[in-house]
Amino acid sequence: MSISRLAAAIAESPTMKLNEQATALRARNEPIIHLGIGEPKNPAPQAAIDSAIARLRTGLVKYTPASGIPLLKQAIIAYTEAHYGRSVGPKNVIVTTGAKQAIFNALYALLDEGDEVVLLAPYWVSYPEMVRMLRGVPVVVRPADGSYVPALSEIERAVTPRTKAVIVNSPNNPSGVVLTEPWLASLVDFCEARGIYAVMDDIYHQLVFDGVRAPSCLALTSRDIETTRLIVINGVAKTYGMTGFRIGWAVASQSIITVMGNVQSQTTSCNPDICQAAAAAALTGPQDDVERLRLFMQSNRDVVLRGLSAIPGVKTAKPGGTFYCLPDFRAHLGGPIAKDSFELAAFLLKKALVVTVPGADFGAEGHLRLSYAGSAEDASEGVARIRWALDPSAPREIRLGDRLAVRDWL
Ligand code: PMP
Repeated sequence: MSISRLAAAIAESPTMKLNEQATALRARNEPIIHLGIGEPKNPAPQAAIDSAIARLRTGLVKYTPASGIPLLKQAIIAYTEAHYGRSVGPKNVIVTTGAKQAIFNALYALLDEGDEVVLLAPYWVSYPEMVRMLRGVPVVVRPADGSYVPALSEIERAVTPRTKAVIVNSPNNPSGVVLTEPWLASLVDFCEARGIYAVMDDIYHQLVFDGVRAPSCLALTSRDIETTRLIVINGVAKTYGMTGFRIGWAVASQSIITVMGNVQSQTTSCNPDICQAAAAAALTGPQDDVERLRLFMQSNRDVVLRGLSAIPGVKTAKPGGTFYCLPDFRAHLGGPIAKDSFELAAFLLKKALVVTVPGADFGAEGHLRLSYAGSAEDASEGVARIRWALDPSAPREIRLGDRLAVRDWL
């Protein structure tokens, strides 16, 4: 086989792999609780569905402009004005195949071989792999105080003349932590002063709890959009429950967007017209589904935190947004159960049929990422099963109400 060394070194997305494993177990009728999945369960907004159907009915589903249909670009421009208080033009917007491709194209536009990208641990699993795919070097900054937000001085120390970008994700996958406005403002200032791009992954920007609004990075710079070093990434996947439509976008200076568009025109050509029409309708239609989703996730967050607080030795930072949390299981590692987060996740899947994601995949060894995007019942039962599995004195089976949840068959 003549697979390139670079391609061979790229890991499969651990979360996608977990989904496949869980689907296979479910197909065998195992009573799996899936706390691994990063996807809301609600259907797409009705306006999006109607728009997709209407588009399909025309029968004229053709190539679109590489950087997106005007209808969707206008919707993104209006969204940027409403949520970031900045007016941008169509040349500052590109529509991509999910936020994932927007991040990839942005990094493609920025990196030469050996260039460095600063990642803030815990980080989303795909960032380091994308940087490596582009022959760049991921440089991980891990907060020394054990928290989930590094001090700016820690980021400054990681910056070298080869640093091209910092990727910032708030609210954060996997911790759910929301960065404060002063923190973000200092980072924006720092990046602009040093000529470093801040790639702002805002995919969970609207899923913020407790009446707080996520700070808007574009409002924190006084620079014109054409000279700013910000690249703002977003998409419809999480906010509107539209993961399978695969529509994301980036907002940045025209010079960056043009290069991202060139990359796209030579790779995917464009995004499906039907999906773009659906995304435009989601952005411009009634927004009640977004508020419902936010409240649903906030209530699930509380369920999970309550359950986790009853597990001895487990500590969890309270998520301010997303539908994830990142409990610290270090008190349960190094003994007979598991030596690290991979073994712990495997143990919980085997013993309790609960899917979790090892923290090591996010640069947070000793932790597990739990998603509470499913039902409140799943969130509550999943955590109860984890507590049972970690208790050496627990009976061989766990009953929840009068129902047998799962039996220990290890
Ligand atoms: N960024 C983060 C932090 C994510 O969690 C995800 C999805 N899990 C993405 C980007 C990708 O989103 P999309 O489905 O729009 O590609």
